[in-house]
Amino acid sequence: MSRVLIIGAGGVGQVVAHKCAQLPDIFSEIMLASRTKEKCDRIAAQLKRPIQTAALDADRVVDTVALIRQFQPEMVINVALPYQDLAIMDACLETGVHYLDTANYEPPDVAKFEYKWQWAYQDRFKEKGLMALLGSGFDPGVTNVFCAYAQKHHFDEIHTLDIIDCNAGDHGQPFATNFNPEINIREITQRGRYWERGEWVETDPLSWSMTYDFPEGIGPKKCFLLYHEELESLVRHLKGLKRARFWMTFSDAYLTHLKVLENVGMTRIDPVEIKGQQIAPIEFLKAVLPDPGSLGPLTKGRTCIGCLMKGIKDGKEKTVYIYNICSHEEAYAEVGSQAISYTTGVPAMIGAKMMLSGKWTGKGVFNMEELDPDPFMEALNLHGLPWKEVIL
Ligand code: NDP
Repeated sequence: MSRVLIIGAGGVGQVVAHKCAQLPDIFSEIMLASRTKEKCDRIAAQLKRPIQTAALDADRVVDTVALIRQFQPEMVINVALPYQDLAIMDACLETGVHYLDTANYEPPDVAKFEYKWQWAYQDRFKEKGLMALLGSGFDPGVTNVFCAYAQKHHFDEIHTLDIIDCNAGDHGQPFATNFNPEINIREITQRGRYWERGEWVETDPLSWSMTYDFPEGIGPKKCFLLYHEELESLVRHLKGLKRARFWMTFSDAYLTHLKVLENVGMTRIDPVEIKGQQIAPIEFLKAVLPDPGSLGPLTKGRTCIGCLMKGIKDGKEKTVYIYNICSHEEAYAEVGSQAISYTTGVPAMIGAKMMLSGKWTGKGVFNMEELDPDPFMEALNLHGLPWKEVIL
């Protein structure tokens, strides 16, 4: 029986609130806090049991500290934006509560996401006897756990890793992103990067592609190489790794819109002056694009995210593909959100469940693959994200 404070009432926050509310034995009291309290209240009204809501600007550490002291949770689930990560970690340290997030810190004025800022909290969390679990979404998150599971059960060494993220769904909009548009576009427009034999190799944005034949009738889709944050921790923690890459599918229409927006400067993150106001074009773009939360009823189809790993076991070559398929329609029927929010929010709840039930404990800052994958893999099957493995 534990109290949990969820910060962020966007697409992912909605799923986390629903999933935590489904488990009163673990999450006995829930508070949902976000910058706009109405969004928390709208989500609270969808739930079958009462939760508390609050307005919070989590950039203000003093305000988060005050709210934590008032509500007294055991842990904070941070599903606001990556910009808030460090401020919320500071508030957790000051109040002595555990921390979890789904995306690594990114300074608003530099489009580079790295774990270095959050790994720098290692000693402070250790000294306070607290746990910070980083990246408990799908990718990062479940993909890290798939790798840890394969390393534990299938391989002596994983030599190559390809994380392949396919959204085979369609929302019918000319251009929309499935999670926060600003964060999504910053991720996709940066230079690509993969890891090979101990070094990072850079590629021009979206310049490398492959066609992957996805299982269960999804079929062949073009996937583009991107840099993705879980690579940074996985290359540290997987034994014998020689190459690690991340791929994501995009439709031609999405890529064409993105190219035009880039060409006209709408994806820039540096502010320009408009009528005496400093506004970053990407922030303006976010304001005019569809709210990902509004895509729930419109999105049809499935996602398929998995890890394709090749390596050796008992001296023999082995290939293992572990994946989840999630239906946008089924996610919407259960929690009122499309599958991208669902596949992020469910693992955030499961990570919190692991911590509160004592299955995952530790002092310091952890990436997902550092913890025992088995109870998490079991929980994925229980809570709406069943996985399958293909062994060759
Ligand atoms: P949304 O933009 O839909 O929601 C973000 C929420 O955070 C909004 O409610 C917003 O409030 C709130 N917020 C923003 N700034 C603050 C602040 N200073 N204080 C308090 N609340 C704030 O984003 P998503 O729900 O799509 O994404 C949430 C997180 O999940 C992001 O960090 C994203 O990167 C991550 N993510 C991770 C994935 C994974 O697989 N690991 C996949 C997809 C997303 P307001 O509405 O008032 O602006």
